[in-house]
Amino acid sequence: MKPSPAAEAIEAVMAPLRLAATVPERVRNADRAIAQAAARAASGAVPRELRKVMCEVRDAFGRELDESARRAAVARALVRLAPFRDPGYAALALAQSPRVLAGLGPRRAEQLAKRGLRTVEDLLYRLPAGYDDRRTLAKVEALAVGARVTFAARVHDCGFGGWRGRGGRGGRMFETLVGDETGAISLKWFRGGEAIERTVRKGALLLVTGEVKRYRFDREIQHPEIEVLAEPGGDASASAEALPRRIVPRYATPEGVHPRALRRAVAQAVADYADLVAGRLPEALVAKRKLPSPAEALRALHAPEADADPEALASASTPAHERLILEELYLLELGLALRRDEKRRAPGIAMRADGPRLRTALRELPFALTSAQRRAWREIGADLAQEHPMSRLLEGDVGSGKTVIAYLAAVAVAESGHQTALMAPTELLAEQHYRTLRQLVGSGGLRVELFTASAAPGHAERIRTELAAGEIDVAVGTHALLQDTVAFRSRGLVVVDEQHRFGVRQRAALRGAGEDGAQPHTLVMTATPIPRTLAMTLHGDLDLTVLDELPPGRLPARTLLVRAGEGREVSRLLRETAARGEQVYVVYPLIDESEKSDLRAASESAQRIAAAFPDLRVDLLHGRLDTAARQAAMARFEAGETQVLVSTTVVEVGVDVANATLMIVENAERFGLAQLHQLRGRVGRGDKPGQCVLVARGTGEGSEARLAAMLATPDGFAIAEADLRIRGPGEFLGTRQHGRLPDLRIADLVRDRNWLAVAREAARTAVARNPGLHRDPALRAAVQARWGEALELSEVG
Ligand code: ADP
Ligand code: MG
Repeated sequence: MKPSPAAEAIEAVMAPLRLAATVPERVRNADRAIAQAAARAASGAVPRELRKVMCEVRDAFGRELDESARRAAVARALVRLAPFRDPGYAALALAQSPRVLAGLGPRRAEQLAKRGLRTVEDLLYRLPAGYDDRRTLAKVEALAVGARVTFAARVHDCGFGGWRGRGGRGGRMFETLVGDETGAISLKWFRGGEAIERTVRKGALLLVTGEVKRYRFDREIQHPEIEVLAEPGGDASASAEALPRRIVPRYATPEGVHPRALRRAVAQAVADYADLVAGRLPEALVAKRKLPSPAEALRALHAPEADADPEALASASTPAHERLILEELYLLELGLALRRDEKRRAPGIAMRADGPRLRTALRELPFALTSAQRRAWREIGADLAQEHPMSRLLEGDVGSGKTVIAYLAAVAVAESGHQTALMAPTELLAEQHYRTLRQLVGSGGLRVELFTASAAPGHAERIRTELAAGEIDVAVGTHALLQDTVAFRSRGLVVVDEQHRFGVRQRAALRGAGEDGAQPHTLVMTATPIPRTLAMTLHGDLDLTVLDELPPGRLPARTLLVRAGEGREVSRLLRETAARGEQVYVVYPLIDESEKSDLRAASESAQRIAAAFPDLRVDLLHGRLDTAARQAAMARFEAGETQVLVSTTVVEVGVDVANATLMIVENAERFGLAQLHQLRGRVGRGDKPGQCVLVARGTGEGSEARLAAMLATPDGFAIAEADLRIRGPGEFLGTRQHGRLPDLRIADLVRDRNWLAVAREAARTAVARNPGLHRDPALRAAVQARWGEALELSEVG
């Protein structure tokens, strides 16, 4: 970590000052050194108050001084500089309201604050959304429709006029006809015309920037940015030629803020504050990657040199971008590394992970573990045996066999005299886990109970009592298990399935689930494959185990796309499947929260199928059925008493019937890609091949791309990558990131994932070398300030 340019400049003044303070009689030539260093400091991108003090110091030492005058000047300079040498100065200065900037009044500051630009620092990190290349000016004739252009033109005519749109709409607008020797074009303002009227005069020369649109047979620009280059009659040639040819940053301007006002505010922030920004990256990394300092980077991005590469700027791939993005990601990764470290040092319960009960459980499994499962169990078993709590993410595609791993962990915990809580985001999923565990447990072994909110009161009461007495080994349920009224005798392991599907508040409760003293081990399971680099950051405080192998003999489901009107094809597949004695799911999307309309669609479909196939038994499953009715329907399907299960999205995760081989997804265009993949994973789980029919009844946003991805690959990780491309990072991560990490300011976890890996590596090394970062309090404080709350880092650590 390197001090900021401002701090270095201040130190450069301090060194000769200190000398002058200790031996004032002997240091005549220190005066010049002080004056020069102060002059240099005053010329930096520093706040006005610091510049003022530096000018004072420069003037005080810039003249002949006798010994007593020097003593006085030294004493005064030390006093004046002291506040700027405080380690917290830069942070405080950067956290000030933009009001401190020259030319920015309280009213405008208020406007900016309303749009989230509350501090000088916010302005510094408001990176341009794009750049206008004003180094070459276009001729009006050559302005292409659709292009964003900058050109100089004379005002031929201007004034208010009316406009009329379709459907009788209309209103007032300000219109200006401008042109050069090659042609003319119209500029239009549908709002704010009054202000334009005051600045634009017939005959004036304007610099115009905006996007060219087609209007009827002509071209026009709506709401361009304009700058008056010469008033009417002014020396036009001089101004157009003398125009600074620049690459001008363009900011995403919030409603109610003028683009030029924002640009000026940012430029002022850069001019007065950029040098206060310190770099946090390890110097070795900076040198290796040849990165500019943050201050240089801010200047390069907000005020590009005339010879900069606009393409590289636009694609966020310049060294300046790299520096700022790495800085941001490094702090984040430091926070994650610290949290991971803290958790690892907390007291936990060491479990016996290789006792006789566990060995029996392993021996009695109805199948041989895949090698991925064996590796996963080795890692998790080793974690459980530690005296510190495990925090591990088990990531594996649908059907990769995660539940059995959780089961083994629960056996080890029970054998060691403790209990396991297994939580799923919905009651249905909890019920499914409960059934799966019961099957695995077989005759002897664990005592597993289901605990959900909708359980009968008497039943719930009994389970509470038995949990408290330690008679139950594994409690399966939803977040209802986290209620204060549910006391375990000794909760040794918390397994959380599909954590991202829990609500934000519930997740907070999951995190807070640890009791005083020894923390339980935590195993988080997810079937939503996130590209590895992302997983490492989103769950950066967790260790990662990936089940990258499906049980043997599992054939990827054949996937077909059927369009509306091709219902015969669907009927044929249904009939063939039933004729082989195999079973069928038909799934309807969740259309609205109330589930009313999709319920209607699903029940009509159930009736239709029952009528068309009188020899098949059809059941209907939906979220409004109570637990008992749902369990009964699931049990009938599992036992093969029903052949067709029509449902709303409730079967999405967790249903496990090996004999079900056909999945029909209705209105497939409405489902997200991850969801479609999950649904497809429900068939072909036994030794019979599965088929998945996607019935597309319309098109939705991105739906064709999603359906194409489903047809293209059976691989969950490839699906996740495709999902990421189709939806873009914001939405892809939306739900998962929400409530976990506050927004990153400039980095983009997907676009910048290569840099993410670099930042993580550097952060882990730093924390390994300097546990808790205690030997670098400034860095620790920076991490704490930025991420402490979000990551729940302890203040002292
Ligand atoms: P998921 O990772 O989707 O939660 P499950 O744990 O539900 O997967 O397992 C899917 C199915 O595969 C279950 O029926 C389970 O019994 C079975 N299974 C798990 N591991 C194996 C294995 N190694 N060999 C054969 N079948 C397995
Ligand atoms: Mg599962």
